[in-house]
Amino acid sequence: MWRYDSSVRVSRLEKALLEDAAGGDNGGFLVYAHLGHAIHQLQDMTVPAHVVPVAHWLNDGFEKFPFKGDISSGLSCNQLKQLPSATNAAPDLNTLLVRTAKQTLASVAAIRLKVLRNNKPEWISGAAFWQESSNNDFGHYGVLGNNYGRSSFVVNGVHYVIPNAQKFYAKFKQQQMKLATRVSVQALYWFLVLHGKGQIKTPPHQRLALQPRDSSTKIRAN
Ligand SMILES: [Zn+2]
Repeated sequence: MWRYDSSVRVSRLEKALLEDAAGGDNGGFLVYAHLGHAIHQLQDMTVPAHVVPVAHWLNDGFEKFPFKGDISSGLSCNQLKQLPSATNAAPDLNTLLVRTAKQTLASVAAIRLKVLRNNKPEWISGAAFWQESSNNDFGHYGVLGNNYGRSSFVVNGVHYVIPNAQKFYAKFKQQQMKLATRVSVQALYWFLVLHGKGQIKTPPHQRLALQPRDSSTKIRAN
């Protein structure tokens, strides 16, 4: 659940990155492991089932839905550099996490989709896909079940058909993937600002550690 677990995890990773920085390390293997791990957590906040949250294993329709189009962040360098006047600092990882989770919940709440319920047209909202719990607990899939990506299916004896389903699914997935790219870029920017403030100095041996020891070494393809 993002409300507790994810933000605790990201706070720990952020603390680790700040400690790495304070210790003068910005190029060691662990620094990038921490950064990559944190960015993964942030990207996860663009998946409705992770934010609502809905218990699922590896079988979430939204996560499985393939999308291959544009997922650029839409952020310009200037937009990235604009710092919030309240803090005059790049948003930290936990701020980015909460903001992304809230954006996902808002995007789910904004869904309006026409479906045919046993052949009768009806408008549904995002809660038909992902239903939040009323007591800050786990939510569940809505009346449409875990059927994101399908245009015709049966749930509890009710036959649903979604006209223009693929267009809707692709558009929503694209919107969330763009959000994932955006938050990743913002996290990298936070890291670079941390670096740029001079809190981080890379000892030469750590830079070298990232280079292959022997340039003639080739990774064997199996
Ligand atoms: Zn998942």
